[in-house]
Amino acid sequence: MSGDLQPDIRSLTHVALQNFFLQHGGRKFRADQTYNWLWKKGCQSFDEMTSLSKADRLLLTHHFSFRVAGVDHFQASRDGTLKVVFRTHDDRCVEGVLIPSADRYTACISSQIGCALACNFCATGRLGFSRNLTTGEIFDQVVALSGLAGTRRDEKYTEGGKKKNLENSTVPGHNLSNIVFMGMGEPLLNYENVTQAIDRITSTDGMNLSPQRITVSSVGIPKMIRKMADDGVKFHFALSLHAATDEKRNQLIPVNRKFPLTEVSDSLKYFYRLTGERITIEYILFDRVNDTRSDAQALAGFCKSFPVKINIIQYNQVADSGFVKTSEEKLRAFVEFLEQKNLVINVRKSRGEDIDAACGQLAGKIKQNAMLAEPSTPED
Ligand code: SF4
Repeated sequence: MSGDLQPDIRSLTHVALQNFFLQHGGRKFRADQTYNWLWKKGCQSFDEMTSLSKADRLLLTHHFSFRVAGVDHFQASRDGTLKVVFRTHDDRCVEGVLIPSADRYTACISSQIGCALACNFCATGRLGFSRNLTTGEIFDQVVALSGLAGTRRDEKYTEGGKKKNLENSTVPGHNLSNIVFMGMGEPLLNYENVTQAIDRITSTDGMNLSPQRITVSSVGIPKMIRKMADDGVKFHFALSLHAATDEKRNQLIPVNRKFPLTEVSDSLKYFYRLTGERITIEYILFDRVNDTRSDAQALAGFCKSFPVKINIIQYNQVADSGFVKTSEEKLRAFVEFLEQKNLVINVRKSRGEDIDAACGQLAGKIKQNAMLAEPSTPED
């Protein structure tokens, strides 16, 4: 049987794995061992499952494949930010970013290949949508970035390092202080795979990281925000707001026309009522677009309905986007206004400015180069 025709082993639940072994005359605990190899140890081939008998490994090889998102290459910024390009089994590229601060490491993870929402300031939005990432591919990013954080501590990698040099460091562990779903794609439009990956990252039979270290960031899909609340999720939620009037937000985030701010706000009230969780508001400042006093006033008004923490983010320039980073002076005035309203504000400086660190930039370049090198296929 061809590897490509076999289902990905990581698409199976624990119970489905148990049923598989029972159906094939095996014992349930083989499924537990396999599950452990997949989600606790983060292994990416059947050969690594050395506690299984050769016959069991052969059985798995015969029925399943691994659809791995492997590290292809990375760019290291002067400020320590590491942008990693992963290549999927179907030869597509997706990005993850490792962001150091003091002795902490945050992994920024992608949830989709490309994105259909086409926000005007975003490099990923220009790529269009290819497909959702699988649970395994999301998990692969976490394992690899966690391994890189560990390796980085040991200063074992060098800029431009290739997959070969990284293989020994891709072991899961607790090297990450935070995981944020702020990379390529809209996570709430790949809800099942994202929440399943978070389950594998946080469960005791997986990586066993606290869900309090995880933030899912979305432009705001009201139906899915309500679903998160109904499902009682334990991770944090961040709304990428970027403008607090429909008129301005429509210009930045086209999907706002479909889900205007009142609908988003109502769903956040519902989320807060059910979870009691404070909401993070992400607000990128763009020069002369959303950085005036009246914009700050609108933002303060939007934040009255539920407890929030506001992250003010400096724009990471995307070439030809038409958007420009706000000056330090305007940023300070904006922040001071909000602080006077007793709002909790964090200012996030842009990172990795000397590399293609804005979400989707590096994958965009790779896609562009590939299109120049080869005739386009219908899938592109
Ligand atoms: S900002 Fe997020 S939702 Fe908007 S296009 Fe980029 S990846 Fe998609």
